[in-house]
Amino acid sequence: MARSEFVERRRRASAAFDSRKIDALIVSSAPNVRYLTGFTGSAGMALVWQGGAALFTDPRYAIQAEGEVDCAVRVVRGPLQAALIAAAARRRLRRLGFEDGRLTCKAYREIEAGLPLGVTLEPAAGLVEVLRTVKSAGEIELIRRSVQLNSEAFARAMANLRPGMTESALAAEIDYRMRLLGAERPAFDTIVAAGARSAMPHAQPSSQTIRNNRLLLVDMGASREGYASDMTRMAFLGRPGRKVRELYGAVLEAQSAAVDAVRPGATAGSVDRAARRVLRAHGLEKAFVHSTGHGLGLEIHEAPRLAKGVATPLEAGMAITVEPGAYLEGFGGIRIEDTVVVTSSGCEVLTPTSKELLVL
Ligand code: ZN
Ligand code: ZN
Repeated sequence: MARSEFVERRRRASAAFDSRKIDALIVSSAPNVRYLTGFTGSAGMALVWQGGAALFTDPRYAIQAEGEVDCAVRVVRGPLQAALIAAAARRRLRRLGFEDGRLTCKAYREIEAGLPLGVTLEPAAGLVEVLRTVKSAGEIELIRRSVQLNSEAFARAMANLRPGMTESALAAEIDYRMRLLGAERPAFDTIVAAGARSAMPHAQPSSQTIRNNRLLLVDMGASREGYASDMTRMAFLGRPGRKVRELYGAVLEAQSAAVDAVRPGATAGSVDRAARRVLRAHGLEKAFVHSTGHGLGLEIHEAPRLAKGVATPLEAGMAITVEPGAYLEGFGGIRIEDTVVVTSSGCEVLTPTSKELLVL
């Protein structure tokens, strides 16, 4: 990421200060700190004001911060909050925005207890998250690379799939392949669900063996250079029967309809509606128990949510997932998920993996 990009992000963040009636923003959530300063460590807070910013971290991260961060770095022994409040006071910043929804009650009380007279804390939830919904060209490139790595890891792991393997073993194989290909880690706990367990959308991999003539659901994402990918694919060991093929066809039709609905100006809710309409026509509306997708970037779940009634208009540069599913208790579930970028004229599906049912 070019260093100038962080300056521009902080400029955009501080441009929103007036409407929030704040003079500065205390940034406490790690992905927001990373977004605004480049710092990737786990212990850091940032203070952003008009025309400047400082990162506060502890001595463990001194070397790392100097290498990553383009604004002032304060290495603090002791509570970061106290140093941050002192810096705000020196600059005569009086109305300090904070990330309610991200900050713990304990941290809030510690900041509040140290405030000088006349300085107030103002809730500013979502200020940075809104900026993060629209990705820069550089970020889209990083997401694209994460998606490509993820698909390659899927292909390599599935090449090693054998009947009798446990769900946990396949999940381990997937995570191993991701790391070998250059991921820092999975972006979330890899989901491998075989047979009837695939009816649980967020099943944890278990000691259940993957057997012939059963559905197999794999939902995986890599974190590469900080950026997430997210993909769900279905496999079948053996020859799928009619019910599986019909269910698969319906979900694929819903997923394609939802992807077709992604364009700038369309609401997030309208993409969800497009998927739901198809599943309803197949009598599967009640079998679709979650929303159609979510934004992703530095975090696996970001704004906007693609769910019923969400009026947020899609904008070029948003990175989202499209992932309708149908889940039948006792039988199994099917979900098909791609990572998609909204473009100026429609969208681009980044995920290169085939959407056909993988028959092994
Ligand atoms: Zn997923
Ligand atoms: Zn997802």
